[in-house]
Amino acid sequence: RVDLQSVVKTFGERTVIEPIDLTVDEGSFTVLVGPSGCGKSTTLRMIAGLEQPTGGRIGIGGRDVTSLPPGERGVAMVFQNYAIYPTMNVERNIEYGLKNTGVAKAERRELVEEIAETVGLTDHLRKSPDQLSGGERQRVALARAMVRKPAVFLMDEPLSNLDARLRQHMRAELVDLHARLGATFIYVTHDQVEAMSMGSRIVLMDQGRIMQDASPLELYTRPANTFAARFIGSPP
Ligand code: ATP
Ligand code: MG
Repeated sequence: RVDLQSVVKTFGERTVIEPIDLTVDEGSFTVLVGPSGCGKSTTLRMIAGLEQPTGGRIGIGGRDVTSLPPGERGVAMVFQNYAIYPTMNVERNIEYGLKNTGVAKAERRELVEEIAETVGLTDHLRKSPDQLSGGERQRVALARAMVRKPAVFLMDEPLSNLDARLRQHMRAELVDLHARLGATFIYVTHDQVEAMSMGSRIVLMDQGRIMQDASPLELYTRPANTFAARFIGSPP
């Protein structure tokens, strides 16, 4: 599980994350959702270790990781602009995820093939990225994160570059993948429908604060405040 205790982030004079407490259960599909600028990405980046909190502590799997570098946190991050390398084929792109892991060359190939199978890229391993569809490219980015077998996946609007139909399809694929991996997913979106349809837990944020942390059903039937009620579109 992932624990945030009194985590604060300021940029210069501006506090963008008020002290927040958050516990993400192991194996959950937790969605951070809220309007643009509310602090979703900043929160995720602090969990990943890409951004240092100004105050507070972050724990992953019972370990205090607050001052550990990203590579030692047991997490993998999938970005919106999935940085896949145009000059490497699919296989190399996935294998790139094993950089600095100490996994032996001989084992790498097997691992890459196993993951490619999981995400349905087996027939595309020799292709270059420009021969792939948007959804396939997204799967390469996922595969690259998966190949490290992290306990926690951090995803920041990973589907926002896809067209509506493909996005719908990938949502279902991600939910399915989550069920198969049994890993913890922390997923950032500003899309309410996406949040409610994918999450087992919804963390609703506004202006650097957590407005409600609940299951989709609970959020829907018992919004804790006007902001939450407005967010899910029911009367307060
Ligand atoms: P969006 O849905 O638009 O991606 P978000 O919820 O992910 O929004 P963040 O990117 O976490 O929002 O940003 C939260 C606030 O922190 C914003 O007001 C942003 O301008 C500010 N911010 C983020 N990164 C920095 C930075 N490096 N320096 C200064 N301010 C920053
Ligand atoms: Mg963001």
